[in-house]
Amino acid sequence: MSTLTSPHRVTTSATGGPTLSIVIPMFNEEDVLPVLFERLCSVLDSLGESYEIICVNDGSTDGTAQMLAKAHDDNERVKVVNFSRNFGKEIAMTAGLDLASGQAVVPIDADLQDPPELIGAFLEKWREGFDVVYAVRRQRDSDTKMKRWTAARFYRVINTMSGVPIPANSGDFRLMDQRVVRAVVQLREQNRFMKGLFAWVGFRHAEVPYDRPVRAAGKSKFNYWRLWNFAIDGITGFSTVPLRVAGYVGILTALGAIVYGIYLIMRTLIHGVDVPGYASLMVAVLLIGGLQLVVLGVIGEYLGRLYEEARKRPLYIVESSLGFDETSP
Ligand code: UDP
Ligand code: MG
Repeated sequence: MSTLTSPHRVTTSATGGPTLSIVIPMFNEEDVLPVLFERLCSVLDSLGESYEIICVNDGSTDGTAQMLAKAHDDNERVKVVNFSRNFGKEIAMTAGLDLASGQAVVPIDADLQDPPELIGAFLEKWREGFDVVYAVRRQRDSDTKMKRWTAARFYRVINTMSGVPIPANSGDFRLMDQRVVRAVVQLREQNRFMKGLFAWVGFRHAEVPYDRPVRAAGKSKFNYWRLWNFAIDGITGFSTVPLRVAGYVGILTALGAIVYGIYLIMRTLIHGVDVPGYASLMVAVLLIGGLQLVVLGVIGEYLGRLYEEARKRPLYIVESSLGFDETSP
């Protein structure tokens, strides 16, 4: 589409990009898209800054792609990337960050659980000189008790284990200066625990408190199994403590076995051969066998990840895109 004939001509800054890039990963979000664009665009228009909205369609199987094509036709600031299949939210967000040309970039969920109204407050803090401004949930009322409890445990565990503190009660919803984004997109690991990557790059940050609403429409794409896997990704991606713990458990068990062995030898020497002992044998065999499997499993987790990284596959495959010039993918 020609820039000149469009009713929404993009005003670009000296760097060639708009002031603000909004990045939205989307997977089967047709129910929420109309409300999303309406609310997001009205907030962005009221800010009076130039902007682009990068929608990453993460292999949706519903009408998301068609709705995005329509949205791009109506407003050329809406840019669209269609993945060749579902790659997961973290990778979809990465693709959006790769393509974002704004001086400040805001990743946001499609379901309006990240209220776009906060973007104004983000911009203010950014202007004060903070490179990263992230939204922190005041309370987690919109989550179930179970999700709140598991989330709290998860942050406890990951923050004791990993070297970089990951703020609890913050999500991916944040504003990042373009230089922070450039730093984040240099990290090309397959295991993309974005909150960890954001924390790892550092920079000066500020917080904006907010209340997280429930999903505007549609269903959550994350069930407990997916969240569990997400937690394992987070921990293994940012800490090798489990490997060390596995080693310690091994050492302790070996020490226990040595002590018990000495005791058995002494007892045989003093009291002679004593045939019963089935129970203690069984316990020792099962315990040590079980421990070995656990430790092997932990090592396997890391080995598997090493294998994934070693293949050096691209993070995602783009099937088509709308609104980017030829120089971008
Ligand atoms: N999402 C995605 N790919 C996926 C799963 C989710 O791009 O494989 C997007 C989804 O469309 C939404 C965001 O990630 O914009 C957050 O997902 P959701 O609201 O389902 O997660 P929750 O808020 O329940 O954690
Ligand atoms: Mg959600």
